[in-house]
Amino acid sequence: MVTGPSPVVGVLAVQGDVREHLSALTAAGATARPVRRPSELDDLHGLVIPGGESTTIDRLARIFELHEPIRDLIADGLPVYGSCAGMIQLADQIVDGHADQQTFGGIDMTVRRNAFGRQVDSFEVDLPVIGIEDADRPFPAVFIRAPLVERAGPRVQVLAEVDGAAVAVRQGNLLATSFHPEMTPDRRVHALFVQMVRASF
Ligand code: GLN
Repeated sequence: MVTGPSPVVGVLAVQGDVREHLSALTAAGATARPVRRPSELDDLHGLVIPGGESTTIDRLARIFELHEPIRDLIADGLPVYGSCAGMIQLADQIVDGHADQQTFGGIDMTVRRNAFGRQVDSFEVDLPVIGIEDADRPFPAVFIRAPLVERAGPRVQVLAEVDGAAVAVRQGNLLATSFHPEMTPDRRVHALFVQMVRASF
């Protein structure tokens, strides 16, 4: 059990499974709060981009003028975690996005939307994940129309794979999973992120 000050972690709350991330972060020891406007990005120690629909998250983030400030925070080294649609939004390049879809970027990888292997819809698999507590015990990973990491650059550390494809990656203070740890009671991925956040301030 980690002790010490509780880091403040925002969850981008324009669309997607915000509530699930807020409760997972709270259970992992963070002070979690939704972010809907630029001023709510002030004083965060970390940020989560939830699962949902990346095209909608992108569109609304731009309408609410959150896109540029989030890009800047990523460039400044803020720890950010993205699950599923959030992984797409952290990718430097995407394939099969909408014509005008933009990402926040930050992770040197190319991600294809809605393309995970043969199982395009959804599936669950017990997965070993590097870096989580008790890493010998597999993590119950839920995939829903998950993104496929087609290319990961040299600075990207692969934390988990399915059928030879990366499904959990880390680059510096950025963490991304194709799956949805917020949808299962296992809190070890959120705990890993909260640990990254604690280490950064
Ligand atoms: N298919 C979705 C997308 O593009 C991601 C799915 C998810 O987050 N479960 O954005």
